[in-house]
Amino acid sequence: MRELFTIIFLLLILGLMICVNNATRSRKKISRPVGFLLASLIPPITGNLIIICSTDRLCSDIGRYIYFIGMDLVMFALIRFSGAYCNIPGKRVGLRHISYLLLIIDSIQLFCNIFFGHAFGSEQVEVEGAPYYTLVPYAGQTFHRIVDYSILAVIIIIFIIKMITSPRIYLERYAVILITMVICAAWQTLYIFSRSPIDRSMIGFGVFGLLIFYFSLYYRPLRLLDRMLANVASEMNEALFFFDANEKCIWANAPALAFAELTEEELDKVPDFVEWRFEDIKEIHSEEWSAPYEIGKGEQKKYYKLDKHTQRDDRGRVTGSFLRIRDNTEEQKKLQRELYYASHDILTGLYTREFLYEHIHQALVDNPDTDYYIVYVDVKNFKIVNDIFSTAFSDHALRRISKRIREYSTKNWIYGCLGDAAFGVCLPTNEFQDERLERNLSGFIVSDGNHEYHLLIHLGVYQVTDHSGDVSVMFDRAYVAVASISDEYGKHISYYDENLRSKLVWEQHISTQLSDAIANRHINPYLQPIVDGSGKPVGAEALVRWIHPEDGFLSPGSFIPVFEKNGMIVEVDRYMWRCACEILSRWKGELADLFISVNISPKDFYFMDVVSEITGLTEEYGIEPARLRIEITETAMMNEGEDRMKILNEFRKLGFIVEMDDFGSGYSSLNMLKDMPVDVLKIDMKFLSSSDNNDRAKKIVQSIIGLSGELGIESLTEGVETDIQYKSLYEMGCKLYQGYLFSKPVPVEDFEKYCLQKK
Ligand code: C2E
Ligand code: CA
Ligand code: CA
Repeated sequence: MRELFTIIFLLLILGLMICVNNATRSRKKISRPVGFLLASLIPPITGNLIIICSTDRLCSDIGRYIYFIGMDLVMFALIRFSGAYCNIPGKRVGLRHISYLLLIIDSIQLFCNIFFGHAFGSEQVEVEGAPYYTLVPYAGQTFHRIVDYSILAVIIIIFIIKMITSPRIYLERYAVILITMVICAAWQTLYIFSRSPIDRSMIGFGVFGLLIFYFSLYYRPLRLLDRMLANVASEMNEALFFFDANEKCIWANAPALAFAELTEEELDKVPDFVEWRFEDIKEIHSEEWSAPYEIGKGEQKKYYKLDKHTQRDDRGRVTGSFLRIRDNTEEQKKLQRELYYASHDILTGLYTREFLYEHIHQALVDNPDTDYYIVYVDVKNFKIVNDIFSTAFSDHALRRISKRIREYSTKNWIYGCLGDAAFGVCLPTNEFQDERLERNLSGFIVSDGNHEYHLLIHLGVYQVTDHSGDVSVMFDRAYVAVASISDEYGKHISYYDENLRSKLVWEQHISTQLSDAIANRHINPYLQPIVDGSGKPVGAEALVRWIHPEDGFLSPGSFIPVFEKNGMIVEVDRYMWRCACEILSRWKGELADLFISVNISPKDFYFMDVVSEITGLTEEYGIEPARLRIEITETAMMNEGEDRMKILNEFRKLGFIVEMDDFGSGYSSLNMLKDMPVDVLKIDMKFLSSSDNNDRAKKIVQSIIGLSGELGIESLTEGVETDIQYKSLYEMGCKLYQGYLFSKPVPVEDFEKYCLQKK
């Protein structure tokens, strides 16, 4: 019997030691008091073991001291553990400190038993044929028992209170420890009263220690977890249906019941509901699936994400499943809005360029047998609209154009914004009504109630040849076509062809060379004499010439329109004006009275302050303003007439002489003339000479000269080629003449020689 107890005690000690070791490694807060409690159990159990094994009194007594004083240590550890386990704050001096004091006193008095023998003694008895020293308790031992029992009783009461006051799901946590404590106490009591010689109650304490170890550090209250998970699940926004292995619905959270419009009593209807509601989901009968689902139409449309998960046990058998339905309508709508804004121009609501290209590409690939046009819709001079009117007006204009495109379009058209006041359209060739469009475009007026503006819209058309080609390249070609339209008020539609392409290549070629050509003086002014009624040269017009090192002599007709289109004319003119000033500053003596007329392109007014540019030059070269004449064309006066007039007036105030070039070629009427702040009217014979009716031409010229005379404007006729023309113009009252009759435009030195000869 003793051997059996020895083995049990040894196993307990070993078990406790292992647990102490584990507890010290654990990071949980409770692990320290638990470790301490388990460690404190080892001395009394060892003491108890020594008592059982001893056959002589001394050993037995030593065991008893270790046992009893060890028990005080256990009580001390138990107080600490209970405080931590039951979350009792222990800062104040109270029951806890009284207990500690009692335990210290008890330990001291037990120790003093060595001297006084007041606590206990031992009595030899025979157990299984061997001597055994059984306890003989005295007053000190009674005190010891009262202290330990009282402390244990208080702890038991604390656990009972905790059990009653905590939520029911925590009951288990306190109950197990409470019950073991009660059993240990009962066992001890049983020993005291049973008068059995061998005390084995420490077995109970050992087991108690192991249980505490398990419950405080490893036990996870599954019921508690279950409850908590169920709470979490019912509070989730997602609808959850739980099914058992037979697909019977066993639980559904509140959102799920609301979604199915069922009550908790109607859970058995859930499988039918799911099948009916989501009948078009293919995967519905498989074990694991996930699918999006939409309900309703238009604004009311709802988007759901469904997930079905099946639970399996260790052996792979289905134990149940759950269906999760997430309402992601908000997310979807946000996504759609983002997608819309990414793919649509906010102002017009049309596709953005990237999206347009993508759609066109798809349409071309999908319809290889249909012939398509790619159309580049260009709003000319839109920057001006922006400048003259408000941004609101230009926005309105763009919306009007997009509305018009929408109205025109059929379902076969794909259209969108290309940016910078340009639109792109792809349409079947047979739906492109050239004449109708031409008519419509010529009268495209935008009005916002306050302002009215005639928008100039040009279309560049490219016929698709390769349906799988790069759409951006197709639009580049359509753009080439649109950019080729130079006669601004004539035709509005231009088709891309190979000539256009090579023309564009050439245009790019000369554009990149312009700066170098100016720097290397390949570009130079030629001068064409202007003479008076007696044939005496009074001045000259500076006309640009480009002597190209590879392409030879380039006439301005080949490159001036290119630079007018791309704005590089500004560079040419600025350079020509400087040349003119430089020549004038050089002219001395007989040449000192001559003037030079320079051309000003309408574009110059957009890109620079023409007045300060030119006065800057005349000041730099010290030239009298009257010697540098300003030639401006009617077209420059067409738009922003008032602003231009102001500029011309400024020139005149500064002493420059302003000439109206190419009068009669544009749209200006004689009526307009009276408001024009010009000094000289240049009438071009070319416009008239082509006319069959020479008499009529003559009459027109005559009336222009007459009228300008009355208005105090001097007249200059250019393109004078014959003596007859010269004479009749003279008779009509024309004052100045320019033309091949006198001289072609010539290099400056030739002009100088010519003048010196004529003087
Ligand atoms: P424009 O200003 O009307 O210049 C007169 C044009 O008529 C010149 O052509 C001149 O050579 C030509 N011409 C002169 N007399 C006769 C004649 O008796 N018969 C005929 N058939 N033609 C005559 P050019 O030099 O080829 O210049 C063409 C146009 O290029 C100019 O017309 C002007 O608009 C523009 N241009 C020339 N140089 C410049 C310049 O430096 N700056 C700007 N912005 N434009 C320029
Ligand atoms: Ca001119
Ligand atoms: Ca002219």
